[in-house]
Amino acid sequence: MIDLHSHTWFSDGLLSPQALLQRADALGIRQLAITDHDSVAAHRSVAAGDIPAGLRLITGVEISTLWDNREIHIVGLFIDIDHPGLNDLLRRQQAKRRQRAMDIGIKLEKAGITGLEPYLTALPCEAISRNHIADFLIAGGHATGKQQAFSKHLGKRGRFHSSADWCSISDAVTAIRAASGIAVVAHPDRYKLNRVKLRRLLAEFSEAGGDALEVSYSNLHPDKMKNLADLCCDLALWASVGSDFHTPHTTWMDLGRVRKLPAHCEDRALWLHPRWPAPAA
Ligand code: AMP
Ligand code: MN
Ligand code: MN
Ligand code: MN
Repeated sequence: MIDLHSHTWFSDGLLSPQALLQRADALGIRQLAITDHDSVAAHRSVAAGDIPAGLRLITGVEISTLWDNREIHIVGLFIDIDHPGLNDLLRRQQAKRRQRAMDIGIKLEKAGITGLEPYLTALPCEAISRNHIADFLIAGGHATGKQQAFSKHLGKRGRFHSSADWCSISDAVTAIRAASGIAVVAHPDRYKLNRVKLRRLLAEFSEAGGDALEVSYSNLHPDKMKNLADLCCDLALWASVGSDFHTPHTTWMDLGRVRKLPAHCEDRALWLHPRWPAPAA
């Protein structure tokens, strides 16, 4: 059991890294990557004694990028969390997150909704996410749930939408590779790209030194998974697997709750990648 995409409360996940590790262990996960948005603070907070015996914790991150005016998420795995270039990039991304939250806070105040800043300050996160702002809006009765908070308020067509000037795909891949990591395009079907655009994105990603795309993840229809597996074979990319776990409350996105890779791309499984580090003896 392997899960290469998950979040803690250092970004927009609900659990501490320690609680996440315990949950992963209880669910039988043997290799887990923590991939918080634009933050590696979770990995700094984990002590050797926090990692259950028999579980391999993989250092990771999920970097927000802009491509063709869309937000594309690039996961880095096995990154050196102390690499200066990667940390510079993450600091800039975190500052953009704070700035965007302030912009949204100003728009909210103009609409008479106050209190976002103290709400965010009280959170344990290092990377402020729209997911947190959605929680704030739901708690204040301004949205009935996450979907509505995004469609009505925070998404591209939302009344409080504010964009961030994320780094490019090439910046993210370059930083991940410089930090000895493996770069993965996260949840490719969530970007609403047609086939031509998705192929163009993946070609540019490969050109920049990218390695893989997520082929199996929570809630992905088997037909779509097969299409992504075909793309891996066509474009010589490796195939990753990850739940994108955020909270135990969304049970359909629980750790490890993903389909096996289709048989025809099993030999492209990311753990067969030549740069996949051998486990410590
Ligand atoms: P951000 O990275 O700050 O732009 O926030 C995006 C995060 O919000 C994603 O990683 C998801 O966790 C969450 N999210 C985005 N869109 C939705 C949606 N429509 N419904 C629920 N959660 C969403
Ligand atoms: Mn998230
Ligand atoms: Mn994502
Ligand atoms: Mn994610």
